Amino acid sequence: MKVGIVGLGLIGGSLALDLRSRGMVVLGVSRQKKTAQIALARGIVDGASDRLDLLSAVEVAFLCTPLRAIASTLKSLVPHLPPEAVVTDVGSVKAPIVEECTPLWRHFVGGHPMAGTAGQGIEAAQSHLFAKAPYVLTPTGATPAVAVEKIAAIAHSLGSTVYCCPPDVHDRAVAWISHLPLMVSAGLIAACSGEGDGEVLDLARKLASSGFRDTSRVGGGNPELGVMVARYNRPALLRSLQQYRQCLDRFIAAIEAEDWLALAGQLELTQQQRSQFLRAPSD
Ligand code: NAP
Repeated sequence: MKVGIVGLGLIGGSLALDLRSRGMVVLGVSRQKKTAQIALARGIVDGASDRLDLLSAVEVAFLCTPLRAIASTLKSLVPHLPPEAVVTDVGSVKAPIVEECTPLWRHFVGGHPMAGTAGQGIEAAQSHLFAKAPYVLTPTGATPAVAVEKIAAIAHSLGSTVYCCPPDVHDRAVAWISHLPLMVSAGLIAACSGEGDGEVLDLARKLASSGFRDTSRVGGGNPELGVMVARYNRPALLRSLQQYRQCLDRFIAAIEAEDWLALAGQLELTQQQRSQFLRAPSD
């Protein structure tokens, strides 16, 4: 199968590596000529260019640009695509992308491979990024089943677990488990860094270890990605942030009132609830 990838960064480059290792012919297009050259020189793709007409004979095209460029990229790609080509994207927010892309290409399937690292760009591309990770597809009533099946089969071949849901349900769910944690984690780093006593701040930085590493990881990643998910998933993220603020207020109230029983009740509940989010996929 001949596959095209537009946007050779962390996700596009990692997809290219895995698809190529599974015997597919992978053609990559990126904005900068230099990126295309690096991808070719490192054997990440079979062919590369900064021009979309490279993809004139692909069976499947993955749009892996930043969110803001996905729909405009598809618009520019359409004149070059074979009529039966299936197009999918990897954007972290789905409803606005699916709304813009569906009228542009009949065989468009919204997608979101839920894997990443703190890295960005072609240098950060790595093999096996999507193994054991969820891969969400967000078809609408108008999406041809054959297109969904084709992308689902590719996602399975990457070792991902495939889920299908409506775009807005995806966006509300990822607001909770991905976009809210990003903001909470960034807020943690900002609050700690705001400590006014230099001696305390200095010692805190020296003592920070695995707990801080875990809780600050997603807040210390690519800033562009954080801004993009906030812009594109604004209502769902705001709703989650406001509910999170209410939870913080309950903790503050219990601690101010020295109501240790109330605090214990809340923490016992969260201890039980955590496992419901981190169950193994086979459970
Ligand atoms: P990234 O590492 O910054 O890669 C994006 C690449 O797209 C850049 O390297 C850039 O390549 C290229 N690009 C930018 N504008 C372009 C355009 N107009 N046309 C063609 N190529 C363009 O970002 P990423 O983390 O891979 O994210 C890409 C997509 O994956 C986003 O939509 C994001 O929402 C989604 N996603 C990200 C993660 C994550 O954790 N990072 C996880 C799942 C999904 P040049 O070097 O050529 O400029």
